Amino acid sequence: MMPLDLDANATEPLRPEAREAVLRALETGGNPSSVHGGGRAARRILEEARRAVAARFGGEVVFASGGTEANALALHALSPSRRVLLGATEHAAVRAAAPPGAAVLPVLRDGTLDLAALEAALRDGPPALVCAMAANNETGVLHPLSEIAALCRAHGALLHVDAVQAARLSVELPGDTLALSGHKLGGPSGAGALVLRSGIALSPLIAGGGQEQGRRGGTEALPAIAGLAAAVTAPYDAARLAALRDAVEAALGEGAVIAGQDAPRLPNTALAVLPGVAAETVVIALDLAGVRVSAGAACSSGKVARSHVLEAMGFGEDAGSGIRLSLPWNAPDDTPERFRRAWEGVRARLSSRRPALAT
Ligand code: PLP
Repeated sequence: MMPLDLDANATEPLRPEAREAVLRALETGGNPSSVHGGGRAARRILEEARRAVAARFGGEVVFASGGTEANALALHALSPSRRVLLGATEHAAVRAAAPPGAAVLPVLRDGTLDLAALEAALRDGPPALVCAMAANNETGVLHPLSEIAALCRAHGALLHVDAVQAARLSVELPGDTLALSGHKLGGPSGAGALVLRSGIALSPLIAGGGQEQGRRGGTEALPAIAGLAAAVTAPYDAARLAALRDAVEAALGEGAVIAGQDAPRLPNTALAVLPGVAAETVVIALDLAGVRVSAGAACSSGKVARSHVLEAMGFGEDAGSGIRLSLPWNAPDDTPERFRRAWEGVRARLSSRRPALAT
């Protein structure tokens, strides 16, 4: 039997619409900057993809290599001459791109951004750039973006939103810039986008041949971009996924704490904290039982560390005990039952070491 994929937040399975669009673009070939007929055919695919992404999110679209680059481009362009404020649970892509003096804003116990702390920070000092992720990649917790955007507007701050995980849902550009990644939506890896409010000046992070109106140099990765555009318009059954996710959470039984369970969350994501258990032990045991999950963030090349997200949410010594279960867009209907069977075996083995899990 095929393994059960519960690691969609690392990468979503390729959607058939995206596969078709990739193949069409590969067959067309060409460089969108060439002036001859072949180049013009490639340009048509590129501009159609741009229109599809713009129609879905609003704003102008600059294509990049993925979510990390789109976030880095926004911070590179918007952070000079502004002080940067970022949430404590931001992804490493944003944290690494922030300047050294950036201020880190706390989150509440449920994982949402502390709005009182944001307001106090905005009131106090020169114009800011606020970085707030739409949905957290580990917990799925959705930040209150309309309140954050209103506070930014009231205090003359710019707002950059990392929407890499939330783009599956209908998110409209709430601030000035928004980052996307194709492979988190069911497109291929290799393409992402920065969506920006018109009028925002964007100095390139990568200069070069003037592509993307001088805002991102380098020949566009046309097949991956076409796949991204097909994926953003593909249907996403959030209600079905939420029901399956809730049933998976119920199958965990007692002894597991779902981080951010009381906050609005992505419909496909659960971060189960198993106090006293090392997350990597569970990841390996579930893999052997045919279920693929990850320990918190999966972006660190197989390394499992304490989760800065759980630390920021106050989980203290249990910050290394979070198992992320994230259902793909095509999760089978028997996902909860298959997970329950695998989990019961794993739990029985773990409970000899950690009795609370046996209850
Ligand atoms: N932002 C978030 C919230 C993510 O989850 C990820 C990847 O996990 C990224 C940014 C980086 O995206 P990419 O892998 O496309 O570079």
